[in-house]
Amino acid sequence: MTAVGLGHSQQPRGHVHPVADAVGGAKHCHAVQFYHDDAFLRGVVGDFLRAGLAEEQAVIVIATEAHREAFASYLEEHGVDVAAARRSKLLVEFDARETLTSFMVDSSPDESRFRRIIGTLINRARGTSRGRVRAYGEMVDLLWADRNAAAALRLEELWNALATSHDFALLCAYALGRFSEASHADAFRAVCDQHTQVIPAEQYALASEETRLLEISLLQQRALALETEIERRVALEAQLLASVNEVRRREEELQDILTNAAEGIHFVNADGIITWINRAELDLLGYRAEELLGRHISELHADRHTIDDFLARLGRGEALRDQPARLRCKDGSIRHVLVSSSVHRRDGEFVHTRCFTRDITPLQRASAEREHLLASERAAREEAEEAKRIAEQANRAKSDFLAVMSHELRTPLNAIGGYAELMELGIHGAVTDGQRELLDRMQRSQRHLLGLINQVLNYARVDTGNVRYEITDVPLDEILRPVDALVLPQLRAKGLRYVYSGCDAAVSVRADRDKLQQIVLNLLANAVKFTDRGGEIRLECELSDETVLVHVTDTGIGIPRDKLSAIFDPFVQVDPNYTRTRDGVGLGLAISRDLARGMDGDISVESNPCQGSKFTLTLARASRPGI
Ligand code: ADP
Repeated sequence: MTAVGLGHSQQPRGHVHPVADAVGGAKHCHAVQFYHDDAFLRGVVGDFLRAGLAEEQAVIVIATEAHREAFASYLEEHGVDVAAARRSKLLVEFDARETLTSFMVDSSPDESRFRRIIGTLINRARGTSRGRVRAYGEMVDLLWADRNAAAALRLEELWNALATSHDFALLCAYALGRFSEASHADAFRAVCDQHTQVIPAEQYALASEETRLLEISLLQQRALALETEIERRVALEAQLLASVNEVRRREEELQDILTNAAEGIHFVNADGIITWINRAELDLLGYRAEELLGRHISELHADRHTIDDFLARLGRGEALRDQPARLRCKDGSIRHVLVSSSVHRRDGEFVHTRCFTRDITPLQRASAEREHLLASERAAREEAEEAKRIAEQANRAKSDFLAVMSHELRTPLNAIGGYAELMELGIHGAVTDGQRELLDRMQRSQRHLLGLINQVLNYARVDTGNVRYEITDVPLDEILRPVDALVLPQLRAKGLRYVYSGCDAAVSVRADRDKLQQIVLNLLANAVKFTDRGGEIRLECELSDETVLVHVTDTGIGIPRDKLSAIFDPFVQVDPNYTRTRDGVGLGLAISRDLARGMDGDISVESNPCQGSKFTLTLARASRPGI
């Protein structure tokens, strides 16, 4: 507060402030004056003091220095001899702060000190006063300015308590500006309650009665309007707070989603600096957030040209979608990722890019591995095909060789047979018994050799695919029944029992008649060959809807289990030494199976060494009339 500008201009001419007269009665007077302007206060307090001095009442002023000077000058201006009043101790002035300090203990006015100090002041003034002492005090206002409202109220109580034992009229003044907040309402009321008289600030204090009533009505209306406004604002504030909380909650949720998203996400500002990065991306790259925030995004990219291209395109407003890139992790390893990114702008201004990073390293690895596997598989296949081609070529060459050789051997062999026969007939002279015996052996050897060569020739033909099949419906019994005649000599020679169980004459198979006969003969010949004297050979057929099985069973030497599949390979014999004594080159079964397969059939075998073997030819059954 300052004395500058204090004047008398606001005091209406001829008007005496109510406080100035309020102290006349016997009743305790403790008035409070609210004010806005120091100039107004100067007049009010000045009149209060002047009225007292005019009655030769002692006046005590406890105020700031500026106010003390302002009041004194006011008194001078209004004809009071201030110096004389001071001399006669009718006007006594004290500094408000100093006086306050003299009885404050721990930020609160101490009652006994107050009574002693202020009581003494009043008693002393009472000695010079004609009648009641007037006091003006600003100490409460100072406490209020110090924001020590409790101490201010306590001091008001102490003044009231002092009034019970001391006779004085007290005027307090508060700057109204100190109660400008709605929250000050209770304290303001408490201040008023401590006073016997409350005088409003200047505009009401100075107004005429009618104007004042009007002002009060206007004030009441304004107070009501303000209260309503406050209520509305409180409601609005609550709403706003709820909205803000909701927005904050959603923001937290979004932040949480982004932070914990499975996909890597980061923000980069217009300068390419990383401003935010989520957990997934940190985990992917092996960094902590503080190690990446503030760094340039290009530091993470293994390929400078890629990130330069990304930034340039984003800068042009382009959105990136699943763009391949390679990121370098903290440990130096490389991750393959797909980047999707676009720029977030606010009011047209580049805020940051939001970049989504999907790790495709495992996929990349798997695809590289797959490529590698495919390449090796391709190479292996090519190698196998080449090997097969070479093997087939070799096989064909072998078969061709066998075919040519067999053919070439057959001609001279046939000639040998023919000449032996001529000699035996005695066309070129008589033949002795000895010679006949030799010629017979020669012819047997020639036939044996021719048989072997024929087999080789057969095999070579089958193997080179030079066999033509004439598949027809062949009545099975027609083939099986007479076949025994062809092996009868051998059966007899070894004393073997032969049993053919017969086959329904109506049953036909899809086969080439000659090839079928050749296979059955072959199986029977083997059975005879590998069955010792006294054994038995059976020929049976078994029917099903789709197929016919022809079984050739013997009680011969059998075949070891581990040789069962090999015997169908060309030139394979279980015991070459043993079979040498029984003819054959190991081609019969190979030829037979090829022929069976050539007719969409097959041959299989079951056998037990020393117990016998059972060879089964499977052929497709010819469709029966009416089925
Ligand atoms: P080959 O009879 O001319 O030796 P095969 O191809 O007809 O040639 O037979 C191959 C081998 O299978 C024979 O050498 C023999 O060891 C075995 N084998 C074939 N049939 C029988 C059978 N019924 N009993 C025992 N062994 C057999």
